[in-house]
Amino acid sequence: MPSASGRQYHAIPGPSVMPDRVLRAMHRAAPNIYGGEIHELVETLFPDLRRVAGTAHHAAIYIGNGHAAWEAANANVFSRGDRALVVATGHFGHGWANSARGMGVDVEMLDFGRRAPLDPQRLTDTLRADTGHALRAVLVTHVDTATTIRADIAAVRAAIDAAGHPALLMVDCIASLGCDTFLMDEWGVDVMIAASQKGLMTPPGLCFVWFNDKARAAGVRADLRTPYWSWEPRVAGGEFYQYFCGTAPTHHLYGLREALDMIFEEGLDAIWARHARLAGAVWAAVDVWGQGGPMELNVADPAHRSHAVTAVRIGAPHGTALRNWADDQGGVTLGIGLGMAAPNDPAWHGFFRIAHMGHVNAHMTLGALAVIDGGLKALDIPHGQGALDAAARALIAPAAQVARAAE
Ligand SMILES: *Cc1c(COP(=O)(O)O)cnc(C)c1O
Repeated sequence: MPSASGRQYHAIPGPSVMPDRVLRAMHRAAPNIYGGEIHELVETLFPDLRRVAGTAHHAAIYIGNGHAAWEAANANVFSRGDRALVVATGHFGHGWANSARGMGVDVEMLDFGRRAPLDPQRLTDTLRADTGHALRAVLVTHVDTATTIRADIAAVRAAIDAAGHPALLMVDCIASLGCDTFLMDEWGVDVMIAASQKGLMTPPGLCFVWFNDKARAAGVRADLRTPYWSWEPRVAGGEFYQYFCGTAPTHHLYGLREALDMIFEEGLDAIWARHARLAGAVWAAVDVWGQGGPMELNVADPAHRSHAVTAVRIGAPHGTALRNWADDQGGVTLGIGLGMAAPNDPAWHGFFRIAHMGHVNAHMTLGALAVIDGGLKALDIPHGQGALDAAARALIAPAAQVARAAE
């Protein structure tokens, strides 16, 4: 099967597909950073960043990737020796915990493994046991990009409130913002982080921290704060350079402006519904494949699955073999199974992920599924028949049935 021509589709969970409009917006000469249109453009970003997050509070922009967003959030909230509770539902929860630990924060883990959703009751119990309120914050990953478990953030808020605990709620939405429904203020989130290269459809290089006044007040005492990472000048500095603590990331900002325009032209509700629909098509296909072979969705309950990316278990060595086939023969790059087994463990080859994140439509997702179907046949991996039919039917399902999109 020829794949040397045609456009390669990277169905991986970031960097996601960049719209031509975003690329075109970036293709320009360096602007004057002392005044003029780049200053005006930056002023337009903040209200739109707030809107995308569902918050009326503050948004700070940093030059950095997702790891930088973790550090930015940590630096503005914690002092060395402070305690934090990290709720992990996969690789990225541990990543945020490591980031906090490396900065001198004393981290307590609530680890729910690699397939299970978090249990709000255990969170309440843990917070109740902290009678002295030493835990300053609860750190949660909205969508763990490795396991593709989606956390119920409103339930996390309720669990914290049930314990009567004052800890801040901090949420990593790097994989989910602009894909899965997220309502920062309505869900009682105090700090939220995201990065440019996933649902926001902009090249890697920008990250964002949103925070409310409760978090801002807590930040005043944070001794991990340094001049570069402090969010204060980035939201209230008064001088243009202070938004970025130095030179503005000019071309990323042009790209982001265009991406935000695209997001509001489509509408957040429509975007969330599109992701739910595409996710439903992927789940339908995997369910059918699994009826005749070793394939299985990592997350059993649809209510706890991400709408941005889907982790699949297929058993070693099929995962790697299928990814290689899809890449070489089908023009589709699938995601590796991240954090599901150690890289030197043969079981590492038993996983893959399909991203359906950002600038993605039906033919891209159906195309990826069709290539996987071809790969299963070419590689003689046992699988149920009719997956593409099931995917097509899921795509055209009545809105009420689509991937539990109504939550
Ligand atoms: C991608 C991702 C990160 C890390 O982002 P990098 O840009 O790779 O540093 C962190 N958390 C989540 C949930 C992610 O999806």
